[in-house]
Amino acid sequence: MSGYTPSERLRALPPYLFAELDRMKQAQVKKGADIISLGIGDPDLPTPPHIIQALALAAADPKNHQYPSYEGMLTFRKAAADWYRGRFGVTLDPATEVLTLIGSKEGIGHLPLAFVNPGDVVLVPDPAYPVYQAGTLFAGGESYFLPLTAARDFLPDLGAIPTAVLKRAKILWLNYPNNPTGAVAPREFLAEAVGFARQHRLILAHDAPYSEIAFDGYRPESILNIPGAKEVAIEYHSVSKTYNMTGWRVGFAVGNAEILAGLGRVKQNLDSGVFQAVQHAGIAALAGSQQCVADNCRIWQERRDILIGGLRDMGFAVASPRASFYAWVPVPAGFTSSSFCVELLVKAGVVVTPGNGFGAAGEGFVRAAFTVNADRIREAIERIRQLGIRGS
Ligand code: PLP
Repeated sequence: MSGYTPSERLRALPPYLFAELDRMKQAQVKKGADIISLGIGDPDLPTPPHIIQALALAAADPKNHQYPSYEGMLTFRKAAADWYRGRFGVTLDPATEVLTLIGSKEGIGHLPLAFVNPGDVVLVPDPAYPVYQAGTLFAGGESYFLPLTAARDFLPDLGAIPTAVLKRAKILWLNYPNNPTGAVAPREFLAEAVGFARQHRLILAHDAPYSEIAFDGYRPESILNIPGAKEVAIEYHSVSKTYNMTGWRVGFAVGNAEILAGLGRVKQNLDSGVFQAVQHAGIAALAGSQQCVADNCRIWQERRDILIGGLRDMGFAVASPRASFYAWVPVPAGFTSSSFCVELLVKAGVVVTPGNGFGAAGEGFVRAAFTVNADRIREAIERIRQLGIRGS
């Protein structure tokens, strides 16, 4: 059978701007080109051995073969709460203030289903991780975009949101350290956002999967470090990037118990939780030695410095990110985000992501992820240098 008409909500999804670039990349691969991909936000480093061992042990135990509980094993939620207290100094009740997720993406996509009615507004940064917008759309809500510009250090101007929009707004999404810009948020901004959410009765949803990937001694703060935040905020965390576990699918949300309960009810009706053996592996990650995280950060930092140094030598005015594994690179004069990506792909065999794929305000930038090893980054820089392009 064919000719099934996709739902209006599917048809309303923004066009997939990477499709053409993916097609061109495949064509280059077919031709035998040696492609260096700085396009993927997925660590190339392996999951640490003690975490894999915990999975193997737990997978062999029949107790873990049945349906897990919806909200996650209490032992996992306790490990998450303990990790959170150790890392941020914030105390959480594991029973009500921690919810296990099948990766943070799942909980991000489902949040609007719990709180957004058709016609409600969700405040979404632009550029941003696309799931904030998709989840809003699936719930029948409308995204109102908050541009993140270099002039404002990639922090949204909350004061510029029209009152009429705010009246209909239910959720404010923030994401620091930020994908795709690599920007971080100072405490003053987080405090402003909490005050703003309280004033306008918004759910403040802070997405923080890169909180542990930080450099030069910088330690990102939790939104829950701000007094009063627990009244309005939840924060998403993930073991994906911190412990190189993107394929394992486990994360968690913490904070306001009522908001988490709403999200939990959606999940109860749609999924059946995270495989318990994976939760045991998550416990090993969160409760075990954090040396592996420090070791990873050293590797990310070395790569960052090679990439940023190389780009700056070519004249690119690119900021050195204090956290995340993304460089947000302004495109040279005469190029758009897309045309610069095509140039790098076709002429240098280097894949980067067009900034406008993350939202209209991302035009004029490309995102380069340092998720390949140092030698490949050096090689990518050399190939770009040979194009003779000067950055701007
Ligand atoms: N949020 C942001 C900003 C991300 O960049 C990603 C992954 O790329 C996620 C959430 C999803 O991570 P997870 O693997 O926990 O679903």
